Amino acid sequence: MSEKVRLIEHPLIQHKLTLMRKKETSTASFRRLLSEISMLLAYEITRDMPLTFEPIETPLASMRAPLLEGKKIVIISVLRAGNGMLDGMLQIVPSARVGHVGLYRDPKTLEAVEYYFKVPGVMGDRDVIVVDPMLATGHSAVAAVTKIKETGPKSIKLACLVAAPEGLETFHAAHPDVLVYTPAVDERLNEHGYIVPGLGDAGDRIFGTK
Ligand code: URA
Repeated sequence: MSEKVRLIEHPLIQHKLTLMRKKETSTASFRRLLSEISMLLAYEITRDMPLTFEPIETPLASMRAPLLEGKKIVIISVLRAGNGMLDGMLQIVPSARVGHVGLYRDPKTLEAVEYYFKVPGVMGDRDVIVVDPMLATGHSAVAAVTKIKETGPKSIKLACLVAAPEGLETFHAAHPDVLVYTPAVDERLNEHGYIVPGLGDAGDRIFGTK
């Protein structure tokens, strides 16, 4: 595994991901499990966040205590499936700002085409976590991160749920500086650009649109 991929093998995450993969899992359960995994991923992704020490008063004494340093994190959802990871992440990082990138996959070329982009006005000094559950061809993640880089954030990380080897290769060919956090790297992509064994269409499973 490349050093640019952080494989999150925590048993709780692996167990929940298996439940999500099962085709009989209901929309409600799928959504709840994705939210729970997103919380646990947020915990892992923020592990190296720098701390600053500030003087505070407890009821008993003064102390210098650790607080997160720097500007607020921005979580950027790649629509629409990325939205399924937002509320879990926000439970762990409640003051984070939120951005959205809208991309659709051209069914013929499988390339990403942008239709929406909204992030906080001032992005310099911000640490960005891009959320997109399925890193399949990698085209939408590449396009999203390319666009986000134009806004000049301090750092970018990509959080997904399942990655395909092809997607990781494409993504890191374009963005070797962006770490990918994923609980699973599956076997391959099929001829329609779906991850195998995967979990199907994440957007449809989150929103019950199939
Ligand atoms: N998008 C999905 O939702 N699922 C896949 O397997 C690939 C892309």
